[in-house]
Amino acid sequence: MAEKLVIIGSGPASWTAAIYAARACLDPLVYEGGITEENRLRGTLPLGQLNLTTEIENFPGFPDGIQGPELMIRMREQAAKYGARIVTEDIVAADLSRRPFLLKDSAGETVETHSLIVATGASANYLGLESESRYKNYGVSACAVCDGALPRFRNQPLVVVGGGDSASEEGNYLTKYASNVYLVHRRDTMTRASPIMAKRLLENPKVKPVWDSTVEEVLGETISTPFGDNIPTMTGVRVKNLKTGETSTLHAAGMFVAIGHTPNTQFLKGQLETDSKGFIVLKDPFRTTTSVEGVFAAGDVADPIYKQAITAAGMGCKAALDAERWLAAQGTH
Ligand SMILES: Cc1cc2nc3c(=O)[nH]c(=O)nc-3n(C[C@H](O)[C@H](O)[C@H](O)COP(=O)(O)OP(=O)(O)OC[C@H]3O[C@@H](n4cnc5c(N)ncnc54)[C@H](O)[C@@H]3O)c2cc1C
Repeated sequence: MAEKLVIIGSGPASWTAAIYAARACLDPLVYEGGITEENRLRGTLPLGQLNLTTEIENFPGFPDGIQGPELMIRMREQAAKYGARIVTEDIVAADLSRRPFLLKDSAGETVETHSLIVATGASANYLGLESESRYKNYGVSACAVCDGALPRFRNQPLVVVGGGDSASEEGNYLTKYASNVYLVHRRDTMTRASPIMAKRLLENPKVKPVWDSTVEEVLGETISTPFGDNIPTMTGVRVKNLKTGETSTLHAAGMFVAIGHTPNTQFLKGQLETDSKGFIVLKDPFRTTTSVEGVFAAGDVADPIYKQAITAAGMGCKAALDAERWLAAQGTH
């Protein structure tokens, strides 16, 4: 028999949708992703992006902050407590042209479902340097709003890499905290950013553009604490000027990589309408409806703008309510 609702994903959007759907007696089935080397390398292991980070200071309800993995484990537990069933596999293929929809998972099993919530998130793009991975969460970040206010970055020089709207936004945001912001960009203009945002960034006296350059290596050291821990700490970046070939060192406490996100929609093979960057297009921006009736989208996979845990959770709530109403209108619930 077909499921009423399948939810794909395991970030704040997915677990919030699961909590609401389970409490609404939809008996949701959640595919949280598989524990595989491929997912580890892509940053898409179960529990989503917050499982890749440390302290979360901006999720309401935790005045002293909470570790990202702990927050996600709690959300998952809450969904399971209300009866959500969880499968630790990826959905690798979907047929949305038939009803009920047909899904196939990474174990080769198939499942039919009357409605579907896609909450598969997005992966921040990184430069792909080995040294960058070493200092991730120890200076290297892909989210200024998430990490910019952390004590380690206050009144310190910081590096932003990129030249589009993300770089403008991240750079402008970081000028609030940094002593100065180096903008490292491979060209000598920000042609891909909206002119007003780029102008605001470049006119800020704290911003020092480093044009025609790329980051070759993230530099750092390991500091031993009195408790015997060895903590990697970023101290700067080595940049290369692409025109002259010269390399130089920028001393900085942090590097914010602002070269966009890749939404996790590959398994859909174009069956849902997306924008040019692959984000699922919502038919009504206030709802979670997509180009296929009965399929709803929530979280970063459908959000090129805000990309925060709390906004993803809010969208997850909306998606569950939208799915419930749609199923009721179909007479399936
Ligand atoms: C390092 C870092 C720090 C951050 N810090 C903060 C912060 O302090 N505060 C804040 O508000 N936000 C923060 N964010 C942003 C926040 O993590 C995201 O906005 C949020 O996690 C998005 O939630 P989501 O539910 O859309 O999906 P995600 O968290 O992206 O999770 C989606 C998950 O779905 C699963 N999945 C993907 N494809 C499939 C598939 N085909 N089948 C089955 N499962 C699949 C994977 O497990 C994937 O990880 C941070 C992000 C990063 C990377």
